[in-house]
Amino acid sequence: MTFAIHGLAVSRGIAIGRAVVVASSRVEVPHYFIEASQVEAEIARARHARNAVVDELQRLVSDLPADAPGELAALLEVHLMLLQDEVLASGVRHWISERFYNAEWALMTQLEQISRQFDEMEDPYLRERKADLEQVADRILRYMRGMAPSELAPSVLAEKVAQQPALDGMTEAPLVLVAQDLSPADMLQFRRSVFAGFVTAVGGKTSHTAIVARSMDIPAVVGARAASQLIRQDDWVIIDGNLGIVLVDPSPVILEQYRFRQRQDLLERERLARLRHTPAVTLDGQHIELLANIEQPDDAAVALRAGAAGIGLFRSEFLFMGREGKLPGEDEQFEAYKTAVEGMQGLPVTIRTIDVGADKPLQKGSKETSLNPALGLRAIRWSLAEPAMFRTQLRAILRAAAFGKVQLLFPMVSHQHEAHSILAQVRQAKAELQARGVACGEVQLGAMIEVPAAALMVRSLLKHFDFVSIGTNDLIQYTLAIDRADEAVAHLYDPLHPAVLELVAQVIRTANEMGKQVCVCGEMAGDTSMTRLLLGLGLRSFSMHPAQILSVKQEVLRADAQRLQPWAQQVLGAEEPATMLEAVA
Ligand code: PEP
Ligand code: MG
Repeated sequence: MTFAIHGLAVSRGIAIGRAVVVASSRVEVPHYFIEASQVEAEIARARHARNAVVDELQRLVSDLPADAPGELAALLEVHLMLLQDEVLASGVRHWISERFYNAEWALMTQLEQISRQFDEMEDPYLRERKADLEQVADRILRYMRGMAPSELAPSVLAEKVAQQPALDGMTEAPLVLVAQDLSPADMLQFRRSVFAGFVTAVGGKTSHTAIVARSMDIPAVVGARAASQLIRQDDWVIIDGNLGIVLVDPSPVILEQYRFRQRQDLLERERLARLRHTPAVTLDGQHIELLANIEQPDDAAVALRAGAAGIGLFRSEFLFMGREGKLPGEDEQFEAYKTAVEGMQGLPVTIRTIDVGADKPLQKGSKETSLNPALGLRAIRWSLAEPAMFRTQLRAILRAAAFGKVQLLFPMVSHQHEAHSILAQVRQAKAELQARGVACGEVQLGAMIEVPAAALMVRSLLKHFDFVSIGTNDLIQYTLAIDRADEAVAHLYDPLHPAVLELVAQVIRTANEMGKQVCVCGEMAGDTSMTRLLLGLGLRSFSMHPAQILSVKQEVLRADAQRLQPWAQQVLGAEEPATMLEAVA
């Protein structure tokens, strides 16, 4: 029977496919597909880990002191029994050999299947054994973590799956990924994979998971609570990324309706594609710069295809994630930036220095020790606390600037002294390159305006910087004290809150008065319902996911920036700006 799970619409479009449910675990679990030739080795790895844990538990049982409580021995025996259970072992083998899951993923999938059976048990004693099973699985996972996983670069995932002989006869059906949560690093790993859509139980509209899904232009719903418990492996699922709804086990009538809407979506995209070469000019002749946000150097090609006038935000931190603590060195970074710069064929590229912390940890699953990570040592604060690492990145970017037009952007600047320190670090990085006789290009320096304090003092910041870029995702988070990744407060995350609009307007006004460049690179820039308002407030540069450029261009072509000005001022003064936007729509 069809049922619906509601979440947040974060990436447009409709996906219809079979569910691949990624179970969550207390231990960090890598998910990747292995090659057919690796199946035996992967099964052996799983077996080896299980046997090692059996040995360990048996040793514990035999070494128990005579006065140890009897329950302890009994508990260890239960764990041993669960470990040696054939259902667990054969299930793991099944997921590895039939679906080509890596051993950890296979174990978690099987664990989830068995857990459901435990949940359905009448006997409370047996039901509680589920917790034991989870502990046992955790032990195996921890053991596996110490073992070398099969080598497989995430970027070849799609290829590997395409090459798979058969997924239980399911190769015809697209796959959709369902998970409790996906870190930005997970998303990156799944980027070039076969998944036609994503559903996660947690996350907010501008969480980085959602942002990566949008940048992949794949339908996604986040904050769909309990999705990973309610949806089972192989269930048919419709992801409606426009409305934020996930339909499970849809009836034939619903399926047909959604297939029809999918076709309509496609036609709309084809219609928009014709605007690709049309200059983004308003009815009153204002030229508007539509730039792309990217996460990886080779996204430059996607940006060009979408007709971007340049890169307005290269989130460089994605180069640093999931590397087991081994950060990329200067040469490796230089190659990555150069690839992006050359890929843009002379168009400008704005590279933001590393912005880690909060919902973008360097290590997947790494423990955050600070109480309020979003208010902690993140973004530029982290870079300034690690000056050697910071200058390595600066040198790499300065070197890449010799190959094209590059701008350097610094995240979360909020103090004057940070501006001074940044400039000093840039000077030093240049001097270091000069001392080595290495060429570097000219770069413009910009600050992201993401904290209310920075918005309020933008005039003094602009004395140090050539340009500013408004990061509305964080600006909203910090102005309204709403964690952008927390679905529980997602309804309060309001881009049209009068305080947010006031800050955005003030930054645009001040920069324009000072004759400095100002861009919006947060999600607001790609939201077509905001385009006219931002134009009316004087914004002429927008940076967004490549997939949004043509829709925003369509809005630009229909707008008269001059005539929108007085209306935008009224929206600013309104108690409920949202109602005014609806009135015009
Ligand atoms: C923002 O905060 O609006 C922004 C563009 O940066 P990020 O989303 O990467 O934090
Ligand atoms: Mg930000």
